[in-house]
Amino acid sequence: MNEIWTIGRILKWTENFFKEKGIESPRLDAEVLLGHVLKKERIYLYVHFDEPLQPQELADYREAIKQRIRRVPVAYIIGKREFMGLTFHVTEDTLVPRPDTEILVQAAIERLKKMSGAEEAHPVHFADIGTGTGAICLSVLHYLPQATADTVDISEAARKVAEENAEALDVKGRVTFYTGDLLAPLASQDGAASGKARYDAILSNPPYIPDADIEGLAPEVRCKEPRTALAGGADGLDFYRRLVADSPALLKDDGFLAVEVGIHQAQAVAKMAVESGSFVRTEIIKDYGGIERVVVAWKK
Ligand code: SAM
Ligand code: GLN
Repeated sequence: MNEIWTIGRILKWTENFFKEKGIESPRLDAEVLLGHVLKKERIYLYVHFDEPLQPQELADYREAIKQRIRRVPVAYIIGKREFMGLTFHVTEDTLVPRPDTEILVQAAIERLKKMSGAEEAHPVHFADIGTGTGAICLSVLHYLPQATADTVDISEAARKVAEENAEALDVKGRVTFYTGDLLAPLASQDGAASGKARYDAILSNPPYIPDADIEGLAPEVRCKEPRTALAGGADGLDFYRRLVADSPALLKDDGFLAVEVGIHQAQAVAKMAVESGSFVRTEIIKDYGGIERVVVAWKK
């Protein structure tokens, strides 16, 4: 049978196939992958349903479908993800930036903007711990054009991706990348001019999934995303304990620590911050689903 695979027909077929295989958003994924193969925006597909695919396009699309069925996240197949209106290169060495994390970025931008004053007369300096693709840090730098930042990730491979993203987003001159364990690489930088307590803010979306919950995650996350980006210890709070203990020494007196948290973790993290004696005031910010998603802890 010599049927012609048009854009419309192959999308319908793929949507059904993905549905059968239990893929969560079958139509969207079919469209995004086809757009990627054809190097077109999704909107192009809607107005070219009758256009036939070339043999090479068909072969490339089949390959993409095969990967998706193996539960490779769409972002890894196409090598990128939108976040805060910007495009981030992603690889299997980096967590795929999540929409939830935009809540942390927006909260940070709002507060840092106030601190930097009109027309950023007093540019801010902040750190992003566990930077992955650089999603948090590079977005804040994009939206605050005078700000500067340091980032840390334990993964050398993630650092390379974040550096590429910094270059592509044209903020490379304002960010320094460190590889190491949480705040250690920053604490050991005894910059004579800057002193230790040099950050207006320390931001982090650390691994926070309780060990026992990892098995219950979607296969895309559980099998394909780096475990070092997800596992937060027995109760998921290991990284918050360390950040709360170690960040005050690096924060300016009027600075803040802002972290993304998992479901049902916000109260515990806020309490931990206040009980440490280093933070006097906390804020909890909900995401669009009503889940407490971000904790901001102020030194004063
Ligand atoms: N900030 C990115 C985002 O929001 O999309 C990635 C967040 S991901 C949940 C956590 C990141 O922390 C991963 O990139 C992981 O490699 C990094 N990480 C894990 N343990 C670390 C450690 N001990 N020190 C520094 N980074 C660490
Ligand atoms: N939000 C991610 C997830 O639920 C987890 C990211 C993290 O541990 N910080 O898959």
